[in-house]
Amino acid sequence: MLYNKIEEKDVEFFESVVGKRFVSANPAICASYSSKSIMGLESQIAEAVVRPRYTNEVRNILIWCSDRRIPVTPVSAGLSGGFACPVFKPAGVHLDMSRMDRIIEIDEDNRYVVIEPGVTNGELWAYMKKYHPDYIPPIADGAPPAATVLGDGIDRGFSLVTSSMGPQGEIFMGAEVVMPTGDILNYGSMALNGTKPFYRWGLGPELFSTLMGSQGTMGIVTKGVVKIFPHPHFKTVKAWAMGNPQDMQDLTLQIGKLEFGIAHNTVMVQGGNWPLVMTRWPKDKVPNDYSFYEKIGIPKWWMNWEIWANTQEELDFVCKTIDEYAINFKNSDKCREPDAIREWKLHPKQIESRMKKPNKIAVPYSWWEAGFLFITWYTPWNECAEFAEYYNSILKKYGFAEVMWIASIERCRQAICMPIVCFDSSKPDDFIRVQDMNRETTEYCLKKGWINYRPDPNIHAPSTYSMAGTYLKYLRKVKEMFDPNYIMHPGRLMLP
Ligand SMILES: Cc1cc2nc3c(=O)[nH]c(=O)nc-3n(C[C@H](O)[C@H](O)[C@H](O)COP(=O)(O)OP(=O)(O)OC[C@H]3O[C@@H](n4cnc5c(N)ncnc54)[C@H](O)[C@@H]3O)c2cc1C
Repeated sequence: MLYNKIEEKDVEFFESVVGKRFVSANPAICASYSSKSIMGLESQIAEAVVRPRYTNEVRNILIWCSDRRIPVTPVSAGLSGGFACPVFKPAGVHLDMSRMDRIIEIDEDNRYVVIEPGVTNGELWAYMKKYHPDYIPPIADGAPPAATVLGDGIDRGFSLVTSSMGPQGEIFMGAEVVMPTGDILNYGSMALNGTKPFYRWGLGPELFSTLMGSQGTMGIVTKGVVKIFPHPHFKTVKAWAMGNPQDMQDLTLQIGKLEFGIAHNTVMVQGGNWPLVMTRWPKDKVPNDYSFYEKIGIPKWWMNWEIWANTQEELDFVCKTIDEYAINFKNSDKCREPDAIREWKLHPKQIESRMKKPNKIAVPYSWWEAGFLFITWYTPWNECAEFAEYYNSILKKYGFAEVMWIASIERCRQAICMPIVCFDSSKPDDFIRVQDMNRETTEYCLKKGWINYRPDPNIHAPSTYSMAGTYLKYLRKVKEMFDPNYIMHPGRLMLP
């Protein structure tokens, strides 16, 4: 695919659309944007940053860039973990959506919010806390407050109620999307001339799937509708310790499968292993062996259930049921290490900090060795232990800490498994080590039928689509329908 570089006339056109103040082709400004893509190992510096405010401005820019064959990468906050965001060669326009930051409508009866792409987790959380305190928005559980709600939705991330309500793709109810052809397409019931976004499946065959996980390759979301959820006041976090990932997986599945009246109340179910604690501190400032963490009561493996309920009675019932299942599991022949199964009594301050939203739990991984990368995979829940054992053995082989985080999606229907690769971002050789490890694990995981989330263009996407040729053929046809000149976020998802 041949693209044009941005010329003076392009910059002048962008300025005429969004105003001089909101366009920059200054290399230093453009470079400062790439430093936001903290999770991408390979990123290109954009040729120009353009900051639209209105849908019509986005439309004019896309029509121009499509005619001129200039690449465009939409970025809402640029904080998507695991490779989705970086601008790729050829760089073109970095379309910064952060000025489109209006909260347009909150409907408590139909339980949705209509927002623009620049609305951040922190802003929407604070707004709803003040004006709609009985409801919460579906913000990503561990993402920084500066990340956006729609950026996460488009990426099909996981929210603070994911174990109960499903992945972020499920909470999308409608969207307004500008295509490079100049068309403005409404998804869901909104497609019927601005009907309320109350019915996600729209007018017959739904087109949503062509947007979810598209990594900015199909069109630009200028408005999105996501579900909101009630915010009950009876809440706690329950934790149980395990000696190995298999016991963690099996006990958690038993509780997840109860569904009604139990698992629906467990909004976030997440666990992992002791290096998750260790690697949130600078490597040279803390002990690096398990014996220290054992002494301070950190189990080898654990699972947390964050529980929300409408009454104390309901909360007590869920807690009691989790305890009963844990004890029964410990005493059953299914359990591999009964001695390790014990309740991990959390300090009230630990519970409080866990429940504070948006939380900043994931941010400190950068302290360990300056760099960290989430490489995330979906597996059936009953295979997450096998994933963890395999992946940790490879992390160890490549000299990385064995950091494994696992959460339930939709009451243990799936697991989101996230090795957190902590590496020294000041050493070029470490980048090669990370990608060598990534390549080896990707080949193995795809053969097992595990699915990569936010595939990176150099390793995950080519390996995945090489095993799904017919799927890629039709994905390209969809792409050509919306973006005939392939200007949207080139390099992503092998498009092209
Ligand atoms: C420390 C840390 C913790 C995190 N924890 C979580 C977590 O708990 N759960 C979770 O799900 N994620 C998590 N993430 C990932 C990320 O922060 C979220 O997914 C975030 O909400 C992404 O939003 P964003 O605005 O940064 O997206 P961006 O990075 O701006 O965009 C994401 C993708 O969508 C495309 N895109 C952006 N805007 C548009 C648009 N308007 N139209 C079309 N395409 C667009 C981009 O091109 C990109 O490919 C974490 C990230 C970090 C750094």
